[in-house]
Amino acid sequence: MRIHAIQTGRVRIKEAQIEGRGHGTWRQLQPIISQEWADWSPTYAWAIEHPEGVIVVDTGAAVHLKSLPRWHPYFQLGVRFDIEPEQEAGPQLRSRGIGARDVKTVILTHVHIDHDGGLAHFPHSRILVSGDELARTAGVAGAILGYLPNRWPKWFDPTPLEWQAARCGPFAQSAPLTKAGDVVAVPTPGHTPSHLSVIVRDGDAQIMLAGDASYLESTMLRGAVDGVSPDDADAASTLAAIRELCAQHATVYLPTHDPKSAKRLEERRATVAPAQNAAA
Ligand SMILES: [Zn+2]
Repeated sequence: MRIHAIQTGRVRIKEAQIEGRGHGTWRQLQPIISQEWADWSPTYAWAIEHPEGVIVVDTGAAVHLKSLPRWHPYFQLGVRFDIEPEQEAGPQLRSRGIGARDVKTVILTHVHIDHDGGLAHFPHSRILVSGDELARTAGVAGAILGYLPNRWPKWFDPTPLEWQAARCGPFAQSAPLTKAGDVVAVPTPGHTPSHLSVIVRDGDAQIMLAGDASYLESTMLRGAVDGVSPDDADAASTLAAIRELCAQHATVYLPTHDPKSAKRLEERRATVAPAQNAAA
């Protein structure tokens, strides 16, 4: 199975967003008030060339993110985007020979603006999103959380993902995305309460398209919660579950913004997770 890393431009955020400082509300304020910018990071979307049709995981950033609502303190003080039109997901897939009609399924790990930004390129696809994640975008509360549902394409009418009681490694629930069962979504709550990740099994290889479950492989391995997650404990337990997954089976771990994700995919380099105590 061929998996493409599609880099949709770059994003710049604070170090305190990548790795949270402190706890609770204080931790969640740091991505805005900290002065310490991280280096530019990539924003990856992923395309899986599967015999049942292409599956796109996240649609990446888009040019419209260079202009954000000025009233929002995070958009004003916490994030910068750098992307040109030809770097959006649609044109990049076309240059790899994948047209919009080849993409059977699009699944969003969550609907933060740099993950749903390229939706307009996928008008012919089934689009799967967690129903609870969608509900979180509504109204003033959604706007304060930084969602921009007013920028979704008019036709956007996603299918809410239904979890099944089908265990996948350390994850008690999952949702198959293919009839073959070799591409599955798993719940990875933390960064957002209904965040999900996608696990691809390709022969002996296992690849996790992790969205923003963590920004980096290293922060996942250290169990360092990011500056965004609303609940420290939920985020930490998801990071522990991912380490458990990596310990059970060699897994290539690919966060959206990890500068090393594309290389790790190219080399199919598995994450080495420290052995953990057996689950109680
Ligand atoms: Zn996010």
